[in-house]
Amino acid sequence: MREDVLDKLKNITDPANVRTGEDMSEHTTFRAGGRADVFVTPESIEEATEIVRLLLTHEEEYTVIGNGSNILVPDEGYKGCIICMGRGEDDIRVNGNTIKAGAGAMLSKVAKTAYDNSLTGLEFASGIPGSVGGAVVMNAGAYGGEIKDAVTSVTLFDAEAKEIVTKTGSDMQFGYRTSIVKSHPYVVLAAEFTLTEGDRAVIKETMDDLAARRRDKQPLEYPSAGSTFKRPEGYFAAKLIEDAGLKGVSVGGAQVSEKHSGFVINKGGATATDILELIRTIRDKVYEDSHVALETEVVILGNKKDGQQ
Ligand SMILES: Cc1cc2nc3c(=O)[nH]c(=O)nc-3n(C[C@H](O)[C@H](O)[C@H](O)COP(=O)(O)OP(=O)(O)OC[C@H]3O[C@@H](n4cnc5c(N)ncnc54)[C@H](O)[C@@H]3O)c2cc1C
Repeated sequence: MREDVLDKLKNITDPANVRTGEDMSEHTTFRAGGRADVFVTPESIEEATEIVRLLLTHEEEYTVIGNGSNILVPDEGYKGCIICMGRGEDDIRVNGNTIKAGAGAMLSKVAKTAYDNSLTGLEFASGIPGSVGGAVVMNAGAYGGEIKDAVTSVTLFDAEAKEIVTKTGSDMQFGYRTSIVKSHPYVVLAAEFTLTEGDRAVIKETMDDLAARRRDKQPLEYPSAGSTFKRPEGYFAAKLIEDAGLKGVSVGGAQVSEKHSGFVINKGGATATDILELIRTIRDKVYEDSHVALETEVVILGNKKDGQQ
């Protein structure tokens, strides 16, 4: 990034929030990956939008992230600015049956707030380790629930029109692990969830049950990004991977979890290259074995000019 743009960035937010050569393994649940040229943690939604405006004006590449629970930065690093939501964009407000949360709020905290207020509809989300922004982008889902079922309004910064817009849930083009943010340069700033009144004890029971099912089935003791692949229509990724004989297979420190074959885990000291090579191996072997093309759910944060996502 140009020095003068870096200086301007430090005028928008506290200079301590702007770091260079940041190790992205510290900001991803995979605990692996390269460095970001610039890494900034805005302290408010206003700062976040001003930062995006600045980077657009100077044609600097950027990517917005939340909790880093569904991304991988290649070992070569990210040439540009990573804007990490979470510091000052985590406001959660309850108004009757609705909860409005900033993009940086943790989804688990929003689900806990719903429970505290006897609101049902977000129990499924309590164990998803992402931010509201990341969950909206990905239309995160689990155990039969999806973000699209609860989100009724989203506030976004449109990086093309350079303005803040509000969209209804149905405008968001939610689909399986996708939303309109995947096809248009929006930054999620906040979301509103509309829930229904429920029985606190039942809500708690459901949340506890789902947490137990996660602990039982998922390798939560190792760093990962959750399910590595999307569920191919008519199949289960984990079953295809297991049937291809890949359970427990490793590349360096990356391994196909022995507990849940749908998870690539960092068994210890995995590099992003190990993880990417294992992903390639899985895709090739599963295709060879069952002619199903697995697609990653994990977002590889490469640079656009390198032809990556
Ligand atoms: C142990 C484990 C279990 C998991 N279980 C589930 C599960 O049950 N269901 C499920 O759906 N997922 C699951 N995940 C994956 C992940 O938690 C979700 O996809 C989550 O919604 C990602 O949120 P995040 O804030 O971490 O997003 P990140 O990983 O930071 O980002 C994900 C994508 O969203 C973009 N993005 C993030 N915030 C913004 C924003 N404010 N504006 C614009 N773009 C943004 C990023 O650029 C990236 O493309 C799991 C992950 C782990 C590690």
